Amino acid sequence: MNFVEGCAECQRLSGLYEAATLEWFRVQSQLGIAECLRDSEASAGIVAELAAIAKRRQNLRDSLAEHVAQDHPARTLTAG
Ligand SMILES: [Zn+2]
Repeated sequence: MNFVEGCAECQRLSGLYEAATLEWFRVQSQLGIAECLRDSEASAGIVAELAAIAKRRQNLRDSLAEHVAQDHPARTLTAG
């Protein structure tokens, strides 16, 4: 992740992104359990939830990239 130390907005967005990542792994493990139990209804619900979380993560990534480009343009130029 590309964020600037000490910037509240960077911290807020990267915190949300991290939380979404942890949530994704938590839901992913539930999917494993549902599949073991051959609970296809639960699996379908979990797959939809995973897709929603993945979309939220992508949005947070975009928001963070946008914020960095706007508020820390020097950072964008030097970032590898
Ligand atoms: Zn920032």
